[in-house]
Amino acid sequence: MSYAKHLSQTASTCDSPASGANRIVRDPAREKRANTVTRRLAINMGFTCNLRCRFCYYLESIKAGRTNDASTEEVKRRLRTGRSWGKRAVDLTGGEPTVRADLPELVAYAREIGYKDICIITNGWVIGSEDGYLEKLASAGLNDVLMSLHGARARTHESLTCRKGSFDRILKAAERARGLAGLNLRFNHVVCEQNFDEVAETADLMASFTPNAINFILFQPTRDASRSDEAIRFRSYSQAAPFVMQAIDRHKAAVPHINVRDIPFCLLKGCEHHVKTLCQLQYEKVEWDYCLDVQFKRGKPFFIASVLAGAGLCVGNPYFWSADADNKMHLALQQARIFTARKKGPQCRGCAINHICDGLVKDYAERNGCSELAPYAGDRITNPTYFMPRDEIE
Ligand code: SF4
Repeated sequence: MSYAKHLSQTASTCDSPASGANRIVRDPAREKRANTVTRRLAINMGFTCNLRCRFCYYLESIKAGRTNDASTEEVKRRLRTGRSWGKRAVDLTGGEPTVRADLPELVAYAREIGYKDICIITNGWVIGSEDGYLEKLASAGLNDVLMSLHGARARTHESLTCRKGSFDRILKAAERARGLAGLNLRFNHVVCEQNFDEVAETADLMASFTPNAINFILFQPTRDASRSDEAIRFRSYSQAAPFVMQAIDRHKAAVPHINVRDIPFCLLKGCEHHVKTLCQLQYEKVEWDYCLDVQFKRGKPFFIASVLAGAGLCVGNPYFWSADADNKMHLALQQARIFTARKKGPQCRGCAINHICDGLVKDYAERNGCSELAPYAGDRITNPTYFMPRDEIE
């Protein structure tokens, strides 16, 4: 099908209950919501992986053998730190967590010290190939799996994961997860230039496993991924957005949570309640506490410097002054991340939701400019969770 014909068939009917497309009419109840920071943390246990995904944040490090793998004791220490911060959900990630022989022990430890939700973020290779492995993790306490599927066909998925057989393995893994009672299944789908035109078909495939959530993550060339090849970089978000909206429209009734990450609101107008920018992440139940994440990855001095710098960027935001201390710390950290990783256009200054949007990924904006951005008119919004469905907020 030609692109033009496809577009004509994919007009969005997202119909966000919280936006009037181009004009915002403020709902005072949403604007006044009190927000609590997520009680979930992520622990990156190291970069060792059995695939070589072309969009991976750690690809060059993996290829160079810099795997940064944390010891069993170090992961346990981070789990205890999370509990001392009041966290009750954890995503164990990498790299690929299932390549670690100590994973069942770590899951059992997380359960023992009080985590309620214990998740692994996985490419499915081991789960799909080893009989009884997922059952073993589930009996240790695992109750949530976030799987990574990047295409509707083996050709597409494997052109990105760079390992033959990975498509069959992830489908087998999803089937096994679906067959285990009490296991929450979610999907990540990295959308990039190579696969955006089959996003709806990939969503059909993911939805066939009746997941609780699908995350469309638009490729971000940051960290090692900043050196990734041209073929996977977006040439135009505006070209990709209708395909994402088509996928949302097809599955919004059946899949409880559909999230789109790393694209600004104005490129998915009408679907604002699915868009989660850096401004929303810290309030999402399924997202991580980035204050802990930065401390684990970069150390306390870097964390403190980032929060102080970010606080200086928040002074013009009325929501910042009304927030409690915990909220302020997270808002400041996210502003520092936005300052280094995102870019807005001059038109954003007049946008009604400027305070709760992070703009474009910097690499994309520097290559393509900001002319695609279309500001909202109407009432100014300052509460970061304004568009979010209530059941997705901590
Ligand atoms: S602030 Fe800028 S990028 Fe964000 S929605 Fe408004 S115009 Fe778009």
